[in-house]
Amino acid sequence: MTKISTQLSAVQHRIQTACLAAGRSPSTVALLAVSKTFGIDAVQAAFAAGQTMFGENYIQEAMPKIMALRHLPMEWHCIGPIQSNKTRLVAEHFDWVHTVDRLKIAQRLSEQRPADLAPLQVCIQVNVDGGPTKSGVVPADALALAQAVAHLPRLHLRGIMCIPEPAPDFVAACKLFKRASDLFEALNAQGLALDTLSMGMSADLEAAIASGSTLVRVGSAIFGERRNPG
Ligand SMILES: *Cc1c(COP(=O)(O)O)cnc(C)c1O
Repeated sequence: MTKISTQLSAVQHRIQTACLAAGRSPSTVALLAVSKTFGIDAVQAAFAAGQTMFGENYIQEAMPKIMALRHLPMEWHCIGPIQSNKTRLVAEHFDWVHTVDRLKIAQRLSEQRPADLAPLQVCIQVNVDGGPTKSGVVPADALALAQAVAHLPRLHLRGIMCIPEPAPDFVAACKLFKRASDLFEALNAQGLALDTLSMGMSADLEAAIASGSTLVRVGSAIFGERRNPG
């Protein structure tokens, strides 16, 4: 086994253990492998070990990987901030976007999504801990944005995503993640049929799963430490 396949198995095992501890079926949590800063070889090694969903933060960095691996049945998720001048590349080459936090970006993605592709799957990024410099809508604005995004013809609104600040311990992490899961439930109570709660990373996936995450985004625990923090 390669190092990546060993580490991937370890992460899958952590997810299973966290699901069992939370009384959830492991099939309710998807694993997104975050390959930012790692090369095509690393993505291929994870794919060979059975991983099919990959996440990238930087569009420019992702493009050569996506193009080189086009022939493989992989799903590419954009999990980084999107500037207006990058929406076309995202609309044309990604399957999912987790970081919609402005209607203008969502409208451009919908307009630019090619007709021959399935609708772009999107999550609204929510700033659950109120950090002033962070991306994401504040929870109070999430319903209005979600309702507007849900009406865009070439997008399929799947859920919400958050990246809380690292918490000192499990209980503190759960408290922040619960803000997202409460919002997720509130949005569904308003009639939005959301099925994706994208939260949890290498350091805090157990707390995220205990709090209802349906998709964890894991980079360093699979691929190793990043040289350039991203
Ligand atoms: C880098 C990144 C991850 C993965 O982080 P790790 O700590 O390496 O697991 C997950 N989500 C987002 C949005 C990221 O930028």
